[in-house]
Amino acid sequence: MKSNDILMAGLKEAVAAGGVVAFTGAGVSAESGIPTYRGTGGFWTQYDPDKYAAIDYFLTDPSYYWSFFRDVRRDLLHKARPNPAHTALAEMERRGLLEAVITQNIDGLHQAAGSRRVIELHGSNRRFSCLDCGREYALAEAEAALEKELPPRCGECGGVLRPGIVFFGEMLPARAVDEAHDLARRARLLLVIGSSLVVYPAAQIPLIAKTSGARLALVNDEPTPADDLADWIVRGKAGEVMPELVREKPPA
Ligand code: NAD
Ligand code: ZN
Repeated sequence: MKSNDILMAGLKEAVAAGGVVAFTGAGVSAESGIPTYRGTGGFWTQYDPDKYAAIDYFLTDPSYYWSFFRDVRRDLLHKARPNPAHTALAEMERRGLLEAVITQNIDGLHQAAGSRRVIELHGSNRRFSCLDCGREYALAEAEAALEKELPPRCGECGGVLRPGIVFFGEMLPARAVDEAHDLARRARLLLVIGSSLVVYPAAQIPLIAKTSGARLALVNDEPTPADDLADWIVRGKAGEVMPELVREKPPA
């Protein structure tokens, strides 16, 4: 057995024992064609994240965000499909081994893969609401409003529509944070997949889990600041590593 096989065998055993909580970042969706925040790739340079991802800027000039959504993000949301990492997590939940997925992603791909308990710390880019009256809009409705005008406006009151994501400069949804912390405290194994773990609260979740007695596994294609805390570090592509963890028999 190569050392990597021994590592995977130990981690597979820990997964099979149950009590797993997954914590995912942009890396889990990279193989679905959605660029990571810190990765290389054209679209982060074409539009400036300081503008499209910040609440101050959105409130000053919402058309900038909506142009970015129209030209870049909308297409990604429609084209992206769950990859084998998302599917493996849904399978773990079906088998009763995984409690929940806590995610920083806003792409909805965990739900599309069949995951039922998904805690979205940064909201979702598939839901929208009116800044003025709060009326909620689905993706298709927001797109229809965007066809008519930039920025798109509320059919009820004419207020500007906003995405259901957490912008830089906004608070995280308190309920989601509480639920995530609670899950991290109760986890037997915290499985972190595709997160650089450099920003709050991402950096916090593994610490909470670890200090509450969980074991920690990191699946990432590069080192993270939490590597020293980890019981397992699997360096690789999420879409290749994760199916391995739920594969029941070795390939013939
Ligand atoms: P990040 O971009 O900071 O880090 C992603 C990590 O995943 C990196 O360490 C990278 O090396 C690793 N990675 C990339 N491809 C991988 C692969 N195929 N397999 C395994 N690891 C891989 O992401 P983050 O820590 O999640 O934080 C970025 C922020 O940007 C989050 O707040 C998130 O809301 C947002 N974001 C979301 C999406 C999305 O919804 N898909 C995409 C980009 C950014
Ligand atoms: Zn309104």
